[in-house]
Amino acid sequence: LKVQYQTRQRNWRGQLSTTTVRAVDGIDLAIRSGEAVALVGESGCGKSTLGRALLRLEHVSEGAVHFAGSDLTGLGEPMLRPLRRNMQMVFQDPFSSLNPRMRIGETLAEPLLVHGLASKAEARARVAEILEIVGLDPAVATRHPHAFSGGQRQRIAIARAVIARPKFVVADEPISALDISVQAQILDLFEDLKERFALTYLFISHDLAVVRHIADRVAVMYLGRIVEEGSPESVFDNPLHPYTQALLAAVPSPDPVRERSRPAATLQGEPPSPAATISGCRFRGRCAHAMPICETSDPALATGGDGKQAVACFLHHEQSF
Ligand code: SF4
Ligand code: MG
Repeated sequence: LKVQYQTRQRNWRGQLSTTTVRAVDGIDLAIRSGEAVALVGESGCGKSTLGRALLRLEHVSEGAVHFAGSDLTGLGEPMLRPLRRNMQMVFQDPFSSLNPRMRIGETLAEPLLVHGLASKAEARARVAEILEIVGLDPAVATRHPHAFSGGQRQRIAIARAVIARPKFVVADEPISALDISVQAQILDLFEDLKERFALTYLFISHDLAVVRHIADRVAVMYLGRIVEEGSPESVFDNPLHPYTQALLAAVPSPDPVRERSRPAATLQGEPPSPAATISGCRFRGRCAHAMPICETSDPALATGGDGKQAVACFLHHEQSF
């Protein structure tokens, strides 16, 4: 999958030039039904663009998006609309994702009414039920968003995303705007809803520590590509890509023994702009292990380690030479 944009800017002479931004630059990702895949990487690496492209909220430049057996790539909005109830998104900012003028009950009933899934009376009952499930008093249905804290608003936004019983939910940094004290509760809510409604998640986070418990599989993204993918155990306990190692080195470990045995790696500098032309490995400029081949060849995502994870790094591709 590729998602590219053209951006236009003026140089100091006032001349317009066009640059291609490769936000998603060749990603092959399968998310199985019932799975929670965590997508982790620094801000600007293309995580949100990938999540939005999977829901066809973003154009697809190359490749395809398939959902439950249908190819969504070429579908226009009228064809996508009936599928939308199965694919929902939870955003980072619960303040801007709820309409301030609508009562909570109206906001929550809307997906059911728009998709013709319930009568008004049924919708009222479903609203009360979902509010209870997300840990709120059904009586709040008559109130407006401003009456709620950030954590409560995110519960409401999550309730709206799941009320029509979608199959797939993209959660884009759903706890990073919240107080530390409520982050764990909202993570627990995501886990609880996954069980209850047999949901499939793409859970986007810039913070590896957050996803350890919720993820069935972790994909680490760098500059438009997945550079490492595997089970949480393999990615956390045996990170292979120098970028994953650096991300983990920044996470405080609850286990001092493991902390000491971890490869010392610190992440320096900024990732190159996704508009830059890159040859060789895209992590090369920040990698302490770069070799001559890293300048000329772009490492593919291939099986590494004990076969349980995939990594895009020549340090782990010996077998293929
Ligand atoms: Fe570093 Fe080379 Fe591996 Fe890229 S391929 S991460 S530059 S060692
Ligand atoms: Mg983002």
